[in-house]
Amino acid sequence: MSEKTVRHILGLSGGKDSTALAVLLHKEIPEMEYFFCDTHKELPETYEYLDRIKARLGIKIHYLAAERGFDHWLDVYGGTLPSPKMRWCTVQMKIKPLEQFVGDDEAISYVGIRADENRDGYISTKKNIKPVFPFKERGLVKADIICLLEDTGIGLPDYYRWRSRSGCFFCFFQRKYEWIMLAQEHPDKFAEAVKYEQDHKDGRQYTWNEGETLLQLLERKDEILAEHERAMIKHEQMMAEKKKSAPNLPLAEVLDSVLEEEDDELPCLACHL
Ligand code: SF4
Repeated sequence: MSEKTVRHILGLSGGKDSTALAVLLHKEIPEMEYFFCDTHKELPETYEYLDRIKARLGIKIHYLAAERGFDHWLDVYGGTLPSPKMRWCTVQMKIKPLEQFVGDDEAISYVGIRADENRDGYISTKKNIKPVFPFKERGLVKADIICLLEDTGIGLPDYYRWRSRSGCFFCFFQRKYEWIMLAQEHPDKFAEAVKYEQDHKDGRQYTWNEGETLLQLLERKDEILAEHERAMIKHEQMMAEKKKSAPNLPLAEVLDSVLEEEDDELPCLACHL
């Protein structure tokens, strides 16, 4: 690659926003390089969604894997599970693989933050990687993103039935309701997440959620589901009031809005777009 060549890169996370960005730009920037930082701890629905994106858009995706994977890094960090305050997972499994992929090349990194969002977060701070925000520049909001996905036939990822974000199945950013649903949809993955809480040779106890193990959380299943149900009903009423012209919103959209409103901690850009 010549020194003057600027690379165009777009990180797919398996979420709706980065996918819609690929839909928007794949014809406009045919030289775009798409990549996915594969932690090998993703949901099966995410891999299926990436296959759907490739088939519909006719693009190639580079799967970038962190050197030696999650279990290696967990060991390096002394068995300390990642958390919102200690996000070594994002650095080791998302940011570093991206930086290695780009190397010293000049690159423009296309980021799918919408015009109706106000978030930033973990993106590479390397000077040769310049982030740009096409949705913000073009004033595109969530409804536009959903249209882009529907128009191409890609739609939303299947996990949207029960979870609002892409990322590792054990992501500590997921809500209690989503943990309960993980146990229902993927009991093997839930069991694996439980094992990560329990497997500490030195006897220390780590939990994905503050102050509660996953098994304790599962014991409160009925309470958590009832709470979620109440939030859904309340939100549906609000949406029906606000959008009388479109009362029959797809469940996935309602769920997405409810869960977004419940956000008290904005997750990282590298994993959830
Ligand atoms: S999805 Fe969550 S657990 Fe996975 S790397 Fe990102 S922040 Fe860490």
